[in-house]
Amino acid sequence: MAAEKNQGNRITELFSIEYPIIQGGMIWCAGWELASAVSEAGGLGIIGSGSMYPDVLREHITKCKAATSKSFAVNLPLLYPDIDKHVESIIELEVPIVFTSAGSPKIWTSKLQSHGIKVVHVVSSAVFAAKSEAAGVDAVVAEGFEAGGHNGREETTTMCLIPSVIDTVDIPVIAAGGLYDGNSMLAAMVLGAEGVQMGSRFVATEESSAHIEFKKTVLETGEGATSLTLKELTPVRMIHNAFYRKVIEAYEAKASKEELAELLGRGRSKQGMFEGKLDEGELEIGQIASMLSAIQPAGKVVSDIVSQYREAGGCSLGKRFEF
Ligand code: NDP
Repeated sequence: MAAEKNQGNRITELFSIEYPIIQGGMIWCAGWELASAVSEAGGLGIIGSGSMYPDVLREHITKCKAATSKSFAVNLPLLYPDIDKHVESIIELEVPIVFTSAGSPKIWTSKLQSHGIKVVHVVSSAVFAAKSEAAGVDAVVAEGFEAGGHNGREETTTMCLIPSVIDTVDIPVIAAGGLYDGNSMLAAMVLGAEGVQMGSRFVATEESSAHIEFKKTVLETGEGATSLTLKELTPVRMIHNAFYRKVIEAYEAKASKEELAELLGRGRSKQGMFEGKLDEGELEIGQIASMLSAIQPAGKVVSDIVSQYREAGGCSLGKRFEF
């Protein structure tokens, strides 16, 4: 078992939440309905701002605050084109926690923290975790190769990534990638994590804003039916649908980076996940989709994870595991 580095669970303390269960801030899936439902159930709900125009994000933050008085967060992909406007809204509307991803944590961390906002950065390697700690973030999410959507080029699996990040940083580590229930949560905590972030599991919830046809496709996705691809552009894990097969054909035809970018075009993830265009769109989901079998209310997902974790004896393993 990983060495105890602290007294108590630093993630529940940092975010003022009941359970260290965090819902990933996924584009097109994580709006205020999902985030507030997860927060109301005792976890941490995250609004995915990457797919929202600035006025849309403001509306989602406002609605989330009206729906829950509990902590919630916004995920901010650092390559978002209008990031200044998102940051302005986050500060003005007093969002308590921001998860940043896909970019350097040096740029925004201190500004956000100077407004009392807790900042967590998503990383896919111990090297990036060390850089994030040096940039002053409050915690990191270590996300392994199994995860859906944007992902690291290194292909480090969650099982290898978590111990390596735990060995590297002193700030609390949240595990992500391939986690979906109380047992996988406990496994990640035994490896040294103090919390878990789950994305795919929350895509298949009633409150997720994903298109119903995408949710149904996620439930039908079997083992081995997703791949991480388009590493020359932004690496992304997606389901093997018609669009994915076109990408493979392009690789077989030795397409250049420019040709791949042209094939990808714009708005593929919106088409697939939000508009339900299952052939033309990008269907982003993690490997663990193969274990999902029902669309459930987000609050039930949180309580089921907690029950299973407790039944497996998680809370009796020491202060770091208790909630
Ligand atoms: P694309 O460039 O293919 O398309 C942009 C999409 O984002 C469009 O559907 C557009 O909506 C929407 N959008 C929202 N705000 C803006 C804005 N200010 N300017 C332009 N478009 C905007 O990108 P992706 O769909 O792949 O990704 C969108 C964003 O989400 C990016 O910032 C990306 O970094 C982020 N992201 C992507 C993840 C992934 O796994 N793909 C994961 C996490 C974040 P409309 O069609 O209505 O114009």
